[in-house]
Amino acid sequence: MIGERADLMEKVTALCKRRGFVFQSSEIYGGINAIYDYGHYGVALRRNIRSLWWRHMIELREDVVGLESSVIMNPEVWAASGHLSGFTDPMVDCLGECKQRWRADHLSGDRCPNCGGPLSEPRQFNLMFKTHIGPVEGSGADVYLRPETAQGMFVDFKNVLNSMRVRVPFGIAQQGRSFRNEISPGNFIFRLREFEQMEMEFFVKPGEDERWHRYWIEARHRWYLEVLGLRPDRLRLRPHDKDELSHYSKATTDVEYLFPFGWGELEGIANRTDYDLRQHQERSGEDLTYLDPETNERYLPYVIEPAAGVDRIMITCLLDAYDEDEVRGETRVVLRFHRDLAPVQVAVMPLSKKEELIAPAREVQALLRPHFRVEYDQTGGHIGRRYRRQDEIGTPYCVTVDFDTVSDGAVTIRERDTMTQERVPIATLLTSLRERFI
Ligand code: ATP
Repeated sequence: MIGERADLMEKVTALCKRRGFVFQSSEIYGGINAIYDYGHYGVALRRNIRSLWWRHMIELREDVVGLESSVIMNPEVWAASGHLSGFTDPMVDCLGECKQRWRADHLSGDRCPNCGGPLSEPRQFNLMFKTHIGPVEGSGADVYLRPETAQGMFVDFKNVLNSMRVRVPFGIAQQGRSFRNEISPGNFIFRLREFEQMEMEFFVKPGEDERWHRYWIEARHRWYLEVLGLRPDRLRLRPHDKDELSHYSKATTDVEYLFPFGWGELEGIANRTDYDLRQHQERSGEDLTYLDPETNERYLPYVIEPAAGVDRIMITCLLDAYDEDEVRGETRVVLRFHRDLAPVQVAVMPLSKKEELIAPAREVQALLRPHFRVEYDQTGGHIGRRYRRQDEIGTPYCVTVDFDTVSDGAVTIRERDTMTQERVPIATLLTSLRERFI
């Protein structure tokens, strides 16, 4: 299966650039490794991923509240959380010809996978980016760009408890940028140095943690299948072995996707115990316990954390949706996005640039725009070419205004996946499309 899809990553990467989803950051200066910009359709896809997560993690529930904490925090946070001492990866250097740097835990043998040369002894490398506060380097405090959003939820735990009417079990969720100085980034936007996370810390009573852990593993797995519509045969759950657990974790299960380069993590669902709250309580001297209003019991809650990455989900959706078929002897490239994910949901196009078609096409656009993500395309060119372009960005439906529209008040709905066409009166167009989006 992986063999068949060996060139899939290259095809998707090329499509992303061609169609304005992803660009190399600062490309005119030669770029910068593992840092990317997102163009118009990329931004739309990311917004859809984020809002589907927010909808299911917060808006459709009553037990999770939102937060946006800062990227730069008091450096004590990272001392307490263990990131200063423990957020490291083992790094090895090729001592042979290529001098390439590798993550030791990603290698299977003791020779360089690139040139076969010998490797150095592993050294621990801290992944946090360091910068400083104040105008003169060295005179103020060293600070760090956060490597995860989670610590914001722990250090604001008391503020949330005191300001929101929350009771354990409850969660705090946030979406935001994180930064890691990865030793061997790559696979396009799979492993980046600047990326975006969507994390939720769910606080539970100790003893109930294992049940909630199972609950969230199942809920998150379902989200990928049912909400994003990813192919079930390319998704799996993988519990971590004891020796690969993070320093704070009692148990972790990853949601993994079968990428062209093998299985890779999309999201980790960890049982962080009371590790973080305990560490912050000890270091800050603040009481971070929770008082159960019914039993009067006081305790430090345990935490279940589903932690996902927007960029990884984005590349997964692109790879999962990518397809090619043959239309009249030509290869058609199509992104079969789930309708909720598609950057554009309906493209409206007049058959030609003639004035008599433009006016009704603009009216159709105005009719649909309040209800769907609509793109208007009158760039000329053969209608087939314009359909191909919409197929490549994953637009589920095109609505075409032609010369008959002027007399019969009807338009054609063309479907991306089957390429079938149906003629519908403009008067019922909105209802016809709405039915297709249910
Ligand atoms: P890995 O083992 O791949 O380095 P991790 O286990 O360190 O990842 P977590 O700390 O669990 O990752 O982060 C939660 C999520 O954040 C990951 O599942 C992934 O989706 C995303 N993520 C982590 N690091 C990166 C990165 N360098 N680039 C893009 N996304 C990332």
